[in-house]
Amino acid sequence: MSETYDAIIIGAGIIGTAIAFEMGKMGYTTLNIDQLPAAGYGSTGNSCAVIRTHYSTWDGTAMAFESLHYWRDWPAYMEAKDESGFIRYVNTGCLVIKSRHYDTDKAFRYHKELGIDYERWDPAKLREKMPIFSQESFWPPRRPEDEQFWEKSKEKITGAIFVPCSGYVSDPQLATHNLQRAAEAKGGKFMFNKEVKAIRKSHGRATGVTLHDGKEIETSIVVNAAGPHSFVINRLAGVEGDMLIKTRALRHEVHFVPAPKGFNYEKDGYICSDGDIGCYSRPEVGNRILVGSEDPECDSKTWIDNPDHYDREVSVDQWKAQIYRFAKRVPSLGIPHKPVGLADLYDVSDDWIPIYDKSNLDGFYVAIGTSGNQFKNAPVAGLMMARLIDACENGRDHDKDPVVIKCKYTELMLNAGFYSRLREINQESSFSVLG
Ligand SMILES: Cc1cc2nc3c(=O)[nH]c(=O)nc-3n(C[C@H](O)[C@H](O)[C@H](O)COP(=O)(O)OP(=O)(O)OC[C@H]3O[C@@H](n4cnc5c(N)ncnc54)[C@H](O)[C@@H]3O)c2cc1C
Repeated sequence: MSETYDAIIIGAGIIGTAIAFEMGKMGYTTLNIDQLPAAGYGSTGNSCAVIRTHYSTWDGTAMAFESLHYWRDWPAYMEAKDESGFIRYVNTGCLVIKSRHYDTDKAFRYHKELGIDYERWDPAKLREKMPIFSQESFWPPRRPEDEQFWEKSKEKITGAIFVPCSGYVSDPQLATHNLQRAAEAKGGKFMFNKEVKAIRKSHGRATGVTLHDGKEIETSIVVNAAGPHSFVINRLAGVEGDMLIKTRALRHEVHFVPAPKGFNYEKDGYICSDGDIGCYSRPEVGNRILVGSEDPECDSKTWIDNPDHYDREVSVDQWKAQIYRFAKRVPSLGIPHKPVGLADLYDVSDDWIPIYDKSNLDGFYVAIGTSGNQFKNAPVAGLMMARLIDACENGRDHDKDPVVIKCKYTELMLNAGFYSRLREINQESSFSVLG
């Protein structure tokens, strides 16, 4: 393995591998370094891999819409084979539950503007399509330890928005492996079980990295794609203080429950974003349902100071909160005796919108702050980063004159300046996993 590369990418998750592939296509030699044994073994491996288009901003919606086409067109996008096979895009469609408290007109105005198909389902249509769903409204989301959780509902939900194109990716780790193989076919290299311990610099520019075993590797471009470790790497590079938007690691639990008897959720279930109970859900193999929290106010947040050490076991309290809330929507749900699920980390930015940007250290770039919602956007994030890096390396001042990319499927123009580290906190954000 040669010891100099055009670019070193710290991290081989879905974001780091997508950047490697896109930079490889542009002729850059890249090396992804990951402290774990294989690609996609970090937070990507535990992603729910939901591919949906509703975001609270125009830019978020447009990026998700463009990215959706990559997932649908995955084998062609890869331009290479993978001996492990390719992921499947499972097109379930996505339901967004409407209640008096959720302004769907605001949330879906960008769908209208961007021409993304969606349907308004009234309560009767929702009942026809999802007969196992209760139509009571439970707003605001509460936890079972709150006495009011057990009170009878006094209102009804008002139907749902249905987005037919949404779905999920069968295996997020395999998706990352696919991208690794695609990057390798363009000349990219990967190094596993190696931890980056220092960012080397000279005269205000990144010049390489030092690994935990003392080995030094030279380069003139370093990309931070370290997921929930992003703030650790930013501190190593000395760039965190200059960023107006910062990142932190947040612990998040996802739980699995068997579908109600007699209902084939795998075939007939949808992805569902249900702000009325503060949960998202999707069909999972084995006729199970995956349930996550949409971070309502009642769920306290567990910020993690050291992303190498956090509790990976699901907690009975959080499991009860999510599954009991979900059982309000699906009263026929059988509640298992034991919690089953996983705990992993989101890399959360101050406004839950990612940072795809340069930094104040020349040659050091960041693709971070993915806030529990950027698996779906990785192909376009990879392209945006590759274009941004190339432009900056060729003298463009991206802070003053942001890079804009033209989307190949939707022909939309995406302004990378939206994801700047120097932005004000975006008040249009949902400040949740919904982005
Ligand atoms: C439970 C959960 C559910 C989610 N569900 C969805 C969803 O449904 N839809 C969606 O779009 N998004 C979802 N997300 C978010 C999405 O999965 C992430 O945004 C995305 O996977 C982040 O990818 P990444 O490459 O930035 O991070 P990671 O996959 O975490 O990769 C970062 C890599 O960097 C490596 N690394 C860190 N520090 C170092 C170092 N010093 N040296 C070497 N290597 C290092 C790590 O080992 C890791 O492999 C979810 C996230 C979680 C945790």
